Amino acid sequence: MNLRRPNANEATGSVNRSRSVVPMSGLCTACHDGCTGGCEIFLATMRGRELLYPQNFGEITAGADKDYPVDYSHLNIQGYAVGAEGLPEGVEPGPDTALFPRVSTETEYGWDKKVKMKMPIFTGALGSTEIARRNWEHFSVGAAISGVTLVCGENVCGIDPALELTSGGKVAKSPEMDRRIETYNRYHTGFGEILVQMNVEDTRLGVAEYVLDKHGLQTIELKWGQGAKCIGGEIKVKTLDRALEL
Ligand code: SF4
Repeated sequence: MNLRRPNANEATGSVNRSRSVVPMSGLCTACHDGCTGGCEIFLATMRGRELLYPQNFGEITAGADKDYPVDYSHLNIQGYAVGAEGLPEGVEPGPDTALFPRVSTETEYGWDKKVKMKMPIFTGALGSTEIARRNWEHFSVGAAISGVTLVCGENVCGIDPALELTSGGKVAKSPEMDRRIETYNRYHTGFGEILVQMNVEDTRLGVAEYVLDKHGLQTIELKWGQGAKCIGGEIKVKTLDRALEL
């Protein structure tokens, strides 16, 4: 059983001509000679690798739509309404004191250095993609005022058009990385943190040293592979000039 539908997906702007589709390949059951339809195989014959990119690139986020046979909706939590635990000292349990708004969702992580959080949430890692750059301000401010940890994804310094390197090829100045960290820190209330994810190129560029020395960041996430999302790890630029800058 195929848990997804290959060969046609809104993320790549592709569709099948026919209503009947082979589950394994995604080809129309009757694939017509002369079809000018829009399946991935057909479009890739003309557009090649471009078809891999979710459309419109830089303006959307796209996630896997595999239809797993089990999801959270199959689980029931059979609660009960007897007693109340965890109330502050001296507060009598009762219908007027055991209220949802009083539930604490605070937690912490870390071995020697603890990071407190208002809620146990880490954001997804938003890195060098255009959609992350354009939406960074409200995304990071929202995480900061919610007291959760914000993950800045990989390759932010590497594609920063204003990046300055030392003679040894290390990051000397990255205004885009500075902006990302400073935006979060401006609204940070002591809960959660901003951490920076690093791939192999980031490691070579000395991103860890940069965010530690300039911004005092305490946490990095080392990344050795890619595979969480549609075309993660790839970016697309609009002009050849921009490509040659990178
Ligand atoms: S080429 Fe046309 S008919 Fe063949 S699988 Fe693709 S959409 Fe269907």
